[in-house]
Amino acid sequence: MIRGMRPVVVAANWKMNTTPADAGELARTIASRTRVQGVTRVICPPFVCLAAVRDALTESDPTVGVGAQDVHQELAGAYTGDISAPMLAGLADWVIVGHSERRRDHGETDDQIGGKLARAIEAGLRPILCVGEQLADREAGRAVDVAEGQLAGCLAEHDVDRLFTAGLVIAYEPVWAIGTGRTMVGSDAAAMAEAIRGSLAALGWGEAAGEVPILYGGSVTAANIGEFLAEPALDGALVGGASLKPEEMAGIVGRAGLTAAARLSAVP
Ligand code: PEP
Repeated sequence: MIRGMRPVVVAANWKMNTTPADAGELARTIASRTRVQGVTRVICPPFVCLAAVRDALTESDPTVGVGAQDVHQELAGAYTGDISAPMLAGLADWVIVGHSERRRDHGETDDQIGGKLARAIEAGLRPILCVGEQLADREAGRAVDVAEGQLAGCLAEHDVDRLFTAGLVIAYEPVWAIGTGRTMVGSDAAAMAEAIRGSLAALGWGEAAGEVPILYGGSVTAANIGEFLAEPALDGALVGGASLKPEEMAGIVGRAGLTAAARLSAVP
């Protein structure tokens, strides 16, 4: 990593799609169609498909990271159906935490998400922390307050240096734009990324606030990624629905490669 140059990251969140029988082939196809210099690629399949995706990528393109979509905040115990960080050893090197669908469907709180972050970094997993407002919050002018509150709640107990060294990535995902086909205007997403950096600085992050990669997520496609990556404040995308389509991923990562090349050429 070049000091002062944030990496460009495209992470695929497959959500509850694919099976162990087809996930490896999809991962292999996406990897082969997104070989673009300078872009960090990550595929996050369902837990039961992690091994298939890991095996397919180890053999075809080990530069693509494998991520889990969640991790439990405890190490072990009576938590039926859940998966702990130690269980992910050898299966994943990234993990998404605090996705709005987990907050919505599993009632995850900022405090629990903070615990998930802690377990993730202890296990050597690189976390992607999701924050973002509901439509009502945006319409009421509270979008920044919501993201700020989520960051403060999730990061409260954390040591900045440890999280930064662990490679924390933040995904700003307005909930009303996820899976809806509605997207945000690029400049509004960039304003949120700047506000998030301001919140991190206020939480004592110092220079690291400017160095954390911030992704945009919310109905990103090959057709609209350019609008987001034209914004210097944004460092890539967390892609849901479109990430299951190799041609979409090829377009998204291809555009991300242009941003990565431009950043590299701007380094003195
Ligand atoms: C997501 O799952 O994080 C996401 C942004 O989904 P979609 O791209 O489908 O809106």
